[in-house]
Amino acid sequence: MTKKAFITGLTGQDGSYLAELLLAKGYQVFGLVRRSSTSNLERVSHLFNQIQIVSGDLLDQSSLMDVVTETQPDEIYNLASQSYVPLSWTQPALTAEYTALGVSRLLESIRRCKPDAKFYQASSSEVFGQPDESPQTERTAFRPRNPYGVAKAYAHWMTINYRQKYNLYACCGITYTHESPRRGTEFVFRKITQAAAKIKLGLANELKLGNLDARRDWCYAKDAVYAMWLMLQQEQPDDFIIASGETHSVRELVECAFNYIGLNWQDYVSVDPAFYRPDEAVQLVGCIDKIKTKLALQPQYSFKELVELMVDYDLKLLSGNK
Ligand code: NAP
Repeated sequence: MTKKAFITGLTGQDGSYLAELLLAKGYQVFGLVRRSSTSNLERVSHLFNQIQIVSGDLLDQSSLMDVVTETQPDEIYNLASQSYVPLSWTQPALTAEYTALGVSRLLESIRRCKPDAKFYQASSSEVFGQPDESPQTERTAFRPRNPYGVAKAYAHWMTINYRQKYNLYACCGITYTHESPRRGTEFVFRKITQAAAKIKLGLANELKLGNLDARRDWCYAKDAVYAMWLMLQQEQPDDFIIASGETHSVRELVECAFNYIGLNWQDYVSVDPAFYRPDEAVQLVGCIDKIKTKLALQPQYSFKELVELMVDYDLKLLSGNK
């Protein structure tokens, strides 16, 4: 029988890749989209004739209950959230509404309307904040340092509590930063690949960045969504860190992008303290032993491959070939 999957956050980076993956696996895919006055379906426009868009909002309990009742999904992936850390400082209450309480509303909808559905919650490495060990494991203490991380920590523990109290098949994937050509340009990885492409094409001549020594655990969004799907294919629900298991500095990223297009990054890049993140989370790197051992999974794309495929995409996009 055809499996049915319901994705929240369909219009986001991960939602669009997950929809592609599930369609390729033969699923019927329903994607939650909240109303907006202009279309935000750009990332999934190529899938229109294959997915079913359903209207709803994580802020609205009844819309979630209606969708879960009507679609009766086998698998539910909650990827929707206010996902931008700096905004969580200027809109902390709204971040909590979407990213924390939205998950409570969704878990209640599942418990009441489709308790045998398998549920994936998008947790984040931001729950670790300033961790007391590195790399972090699934057992590392949560010490979130921004409202986004606090909201994700709440959502994480609510998911585990619903699993324990109501016996739901509910799991959390603690993802570290993952990137792709569909990533917003407010995030540093895409900001760099797009700026390198612009400079190469003569559309810009400088790039201002914050701390070049900041290190991140970056992986490709396609690897991340595959891990999400695999987590829901197991006999028992469990929580996993989804990461590359290695860190690279912003400097390495810049070097890699500019080397790829044959330019010397030092001729174009300057450091502007205005871009420093005051709450820079250091040494966030995921231990991927559990996911490697229990799910036999490891990243398919290297850091260098990811940088190069994103620069290639931005070069094509900016020269009108996309
Ligand atoms: P994204 O591109 O920012 O997408 C967020 C999605 O959430 C969008 O589809 C957005 O819809 C939707 N959304 C926001 N508020 C909503 C609401 N009230 N009701 C319904 N939908 C709502 O995020 P992403 O990069 O794909 O990340 C997916 C998930 O993983 C998020 O939960 C994020 O916090 C988490 N995560 C991501 C990363 C990463 O590196 N990408 C790392 C760790 C964790 P609109 O189009 O209408 O705005």
